[in-house]
Amino acid sequence: MKKPVYNYGLAVILAGGAFLFRQWFAVQFGSTLTYIFLYPAVLITAMLAGVMPGLLAATIAAALAATWIFPPIGQPWSLSMADLLGLGIFLTMAVFMCLMTGLYHRAQRKVQAFEKEKATRESEERFHTLADNMAQLAWMADEKGRRFWYNQRWCDFTGTSLEEMRDEGWQKVHHPDHVQRVVDKISRCFQFGEIWEDTFPLRGKDGVFRWFLSRAIPIRDGDGRVVRWFGTNTDITDLRNVEEALRQREERLNRAQEIAQLGSWELDLVDNVLTWSDEVYRIFGLQPQEFGATYEAFLEAVHPDDRSAVKEAYSSSLREGRDSYEIEHRVVRKPNGEIRFVHEKCEHFRDKTGRIIRSVGMIHDITERKRAEEKLLASEEKFRSIIENLPLGVHMYELAGDGILRFIGTNPAADRILGIDNRQFIGQKIEEAFPPLVQTEIPDKYRAVATGGGAWYKEESTYRDDRIAGAFEVHCFQFAPGKIVALFQDITSRKQSEEALRLAKEAAEAATRAKGQFLANMSHELRTPMTGILGMIDLALQGELAEEQRGYLEAVGKSAQALLRILNDILGFSRIEAGMIAFVEEPFLLHEAVRGAVELFDIEARRKGLELVLDITPETPQVMAGDEGRVRQILLNLVGNAVKFTEQGRVAIRVAAGEAVGGGRRQVTFTVADTGIGIPEEKRQTLFRSFSQVDDSHTRRFGGTGLGLVISKEVVERMGGTISFTSEAKTGSSFVVTLPLRETVAETPAAAASPAPDLPPAAAEGTKPRLLVAEDDPTIQMVIGMMLRSGGLDFDLADNGEEAVAMWAKGGYDLVLMDVQMPLMDGFEAVRAIRERERTGSGRTPIVALTAHAYLSDRQKCLDAGMDAYVAKPIDFQGLLEVVRELLGGKVKE
Ligand code: ADP
Repeated sequence: MKKPVYNYGLAVILAGGAFLFRQWFAVQFGSTLTYIFLYPAVLITAMLAGVMPGLLAATIAAALAATWIFPPIGQPWSLSMADLLGLGIFLTMAVFMCLMTGLYHRAQRKVQAFEKEKATRESEERFHTLADNMAQLAWMADEKGRRFWYNQRWCDFTGTSLEEMRDEGWQKVHHPDHVQRVVDKISRCFQFGEIWEDTFPLRGKDGVFRWFLSRAIPIRDGDGRVVRWFGTNTDITDLRNVEEALRQREERLNRAQEIAQLGSWELDLVDNVLTWSDEVYRIFGLQPQEFGATYEAFLEAVHPDDRSAVKEAYSSSLREGRDSYEIEHRVVRKPNGEIRFVHEKCEHFRDKTGRIIRSVGMIHDITERKRAEEKLLASEEKFRSIIENLPLGVHMYELAGDGILRFIGTNPAADRILGIDNRQFIGQKIEEAFPPLVQTEIPDKYRAVATGGGAWYKEESTYRDDRIAGAFEVHCFQFAPGKIVALFQDITSRKQSEEALRLAKEAAEAATRAKGQFLANMSHELRTPMTGILGMIDLALQGELAEEQRGYLEAVGKSAQALLRILNDILGFSRIEAGMIAFVEEPFLLHEAVRGAVELFDIEARRKGLELVLDITPETPQVMAGDEGRVRQILLNLVGNAVKFTEQGRVAIRVAAGEAVGGGRRQVTFTVADTGIGIPEEKRQTLFRSFSQVDDSHTRRFGGTGLGLVISKEVVERMGGTISFTSEAKTGSSFVVTLPLRETVAETPAAAASPAPDLPPAAAEGTKPRLLVAEDDPTIQMVIGMMLRSGGLDFDLADNGEEAVAMWAKGGYDLVLMDVQMPLMDGFEAVRAIRERERTGSGRTPIVALTAHAYLSDRQKCLDAGMDAYVAKPIDFQGLLEVVRELLGGKVKE
């Protein structure tokens, strides 16, 4: 619409213009026509500017006419009636024209509005038809974004009606996870009039969500104002599924490439575009976002030393028109300079004209394989070097078909050992290479190992052919499926030295046996005369003697005792060596045994001016069970040493019972301390070794065999005890022995209950018991005779076994004392004969063996032969009487 002021201006201009034209025309042509020129001005004004400007134009024209045309100028009040009438008609006509024009205009506008509305309706109908039939879901909203229309597809898909969807109803079909985001975004677009685009799922009438790409554009009016929003939702579910499938496929491919460490690349030679798969970036250690796939970047990644070869491989394949090529090279990984090995394979593709347009390549990271190969090579090298340098001979075989063992390898040691070139047999069957093996189990054993695995060993296998001879140690095992190694060495000389050793050992054993025999004989030979010497000295001392003679005899007696001790040491030692010591466990008077042993040294100590002190603690039981003889033996040795090696001061013996040690035993500690010469540090180690003495000069000064401590230690340890010592040179020594002795309820041992009588009793019947003594040695005969006589016993003498058996046969003997070693018939034989005869007769005569054989086995031998007791030489007078008394039993009386 034009502004009214222009319309009214138009009215003034047209009315004024028409009046001026009329004035000019009247002057020019002398015309009196007044209104003919004014009507068009009014009509045009009414037509163009409207009714009111038309009326204004008419009024202005009438006023100008009344003022300037008819009366004298400027005096309109002087108008004539005719002029007034003419003016009235003009005005009436002008008003009429204006009204008619207004009516016309109105009718025209109505027609226009109707037509416009019709056009709009048609256009919307067309749009709806179109929108209903479009493939997308569509909707319209007013300028504020309020939805007022949805197309048929929307309703069909969502299963909703227009009513439900109106305004914010659309949210019902949106996925709850997306609503807020969608609302935020679309509200912003509505507010700022921007195009809206979003992707989200919408629920179909079947309840299944499908993805849509949604867009809305604003529709503006002529003034640019948003009047509508038109939106579409395009179903992209299938597209997304395809995209997702593609993505997954690509991911799988990527993953597969990653696992296989196999990258791929493609070069489009037409557009010069290079693409790399993710794995190529990984192999090169590059970040896809940092590096584009370029040939330069690729060359940069290749190890500088390999670059020209890689370049040449590619360009030469193009140049020479080859369809593919392969190359192995190194790459230097970007981040840390790590070197990787890759194997590349490239293929070219051609267009129809045969021109190469595309190259496709694979890059395979073979670093691990390369390293493994290197390792394998190194280990093979190691293995080979071991085999080459092995001092054992090596033969390798492989199981070919049909159980054939083929010789496949050897080593230099095999050549050395066998003295032939073994390599000449490589490829041959085992039987061809080493024919004598056919006779042996070896081929079968090898085959078994080659087939079933495991190993086979043969300590000695002899082999002989024209070239090889000897005994071999063979060790065979499988080193790969169907392949075996036989390791062998020539043991001929070892076998020979083993044989020599065996012979030497046998000889040594024979020598030991001979030594044992010698010792036994020696003991017999020495102990028998000792019996005579000691017995005779005793006898002589019992008689009338001059003082001087008595002195000599006592000195002889002492020497003989010393000799006997040495003899006993040697015997004790040989027993230990032969493992022949036995122990008894009987109750004995501990205090008395210790006192008795110590008292033996009383005279010697006094002679040397030494103080001999014995201290037995009150807690030490009087009676304990153990081997009294052994306890005495140990004490005699220790106290004897202490006295022997002490020149001044004292020797103190202490006995103390300690803790219970289980098994009803109590630890008893015997300490022998002296103030003697002591034992120097460096000699202490050797003290308990055989024949060792601290100073050889000691032997000369103090005498002794150096066996006492060895025997004591062995005895103590066999009794479950310990022996140790502390010593300081020139100050003294202290030996400590602990023995686990059994505690006993019997307060006094049997022996103590009835002390041995000094003299044997007479027979029960009042007749004196009569003994038969079989002994070949006249001295011993004398000694025994003297002993028995002084014991009040009668006896007869037999010089040998034969005689003894004959005398016994006559009868009348209550007991036989039988020496074991006698001429004609020895003691064993005689006893066997007596026992044999006793079987037919009645009664059994007790027989006591007298033997210088001091071994345990001798004692057993005597008992086995049928003897009842055993007395060792030199004969202990009291001991013999005790045995006799016991065996005679009731026949003996006080
Ligand atoms: P021997 O018969 O020589 O005494 P022993 O085996 O009893 O043999 O003793 C070995 C050596 O140990 C002795 O020769 C002596 O040198 C040393 N020995 C043993 N007891 C003592 C001691 N009480 N004081 C010093 N030396 C000792």
